[in-house]
Amino acid sequence: AKQRRAGWATYCPNNSGNVDNKRHLQLRSELNSALSENQIQLYYQPKVKIETGEIVGAEALARWIHPTDGMISPMIFIPLVEQSGLVQEFGRYVIRQAIQQLVTWKNQRIESPIAVNLSPYNLLDKDLVLYTQNLLVKGNISPELLEIELTETATSVDIQTISDALNDFKEIGVKLSIDDFGTGMSSLAYVSSLNVDTIKVDRSFVHDIETNANHYSIVNTALTLARSFGCTIVVEGIENKTQMALLKEMGCDFGQGFYYSRPLPVDQFTAMIKFTRTLPVA
Ligand code: C2E
Ligand code: MG
Ligand code: MG
Ligand code: MG
Repeated sequence: AKQRRAGWATYCPNNSGNVDNKRHLQLRSELNSALSENQIQLYYQPKVKIETGEIVGAEALARWIHPTDGMISPMIFIPLVEQSGLVQEFGRYVIRQAIQQLVTWKNQRIESPIAVNLSPYNLLDKDLVLYTQNLLVKGNISPELLEIELTETATSVDIQTISDALNDFKEIGVKLSIDDFGTGMSSLAYVSSLNVDTIKVDRSFVHDIETNANHYSIVNTALTLARSFGCTIVVEGIENKTQMALLKEMGCDFGQGFYYSRPLPVDQFTAMIKFTRTLPVA
């Protein structure tokens, strides 16, 4: 009997960090239909102005609602997407879903920016910018309501290609951010050569910021860097009041994390922005 499990489906990478076990191979082959049948949904996590608690937007995070396996984490299926030649299609899918949501909200007189995640591989899709612009124009959506979060993973995609594609996005008015700042080897190179609006500090520096002096200084350095580049800073992974208060005192602009809210299905997120304009500041 088909049964849906409540939590994440737990396909763990094996010891070599490889995801090529039997179930993964099956999942990979199911990705095509997952896209055509809209099994992949965007959940929304609020982005909050730390000083006031005001919800200023959302990050869209993909979840695969699998018909038999339940919810599958992007940590599992994004690598499968990248192995299966579906990167381009998936990137377009996510952008299309996000812009559709902006249109739906517009019809409900709600305006809230959405940030989508792209991998550097998506920037090899030569027509992605045009594709995005067409959807924005068709939906009559201002481009600055869309933001691209680029994960700073080590890839074979060269920085010039990335930089060119990002500049094209910037030219059509879309906002840009560097995700997971501090985790890659190329943080400084990235931020100084790419013309981004926002730096998102990785949550690994936040989870113990109250006690880890090194992590505290990394966040502080990111803040200084952001100021000197004229970027705003978003701190990921705020899980408790102490962390929030500390980051507020440090002068961080925006935050995300379970302390404020987990990523939510769209209806719950919509209710949140309609009825709860601010989240806790203390
Ligand atoms: P990310 O873009 O850095 O997203 C933040 C991740 O941290 C999300 O995990 C989010 O649920 C989680 N998170 C948020 N607040 C907290 C917190 O307070 N504590 C902890 N422990 N975690 C928190 P998620 O949704 O599992 O996504 C993981 C990664 O998968 C994302 O990291 C992103 O790199 C990638 N991803 C997600 N959706 C997409 C997508 O549509 N396209 C691409 N290319 N990648 C995606
Ligand atoms: Mg992100
Ligand atoms: Mg991140
Ligand atoms: Mg992250």
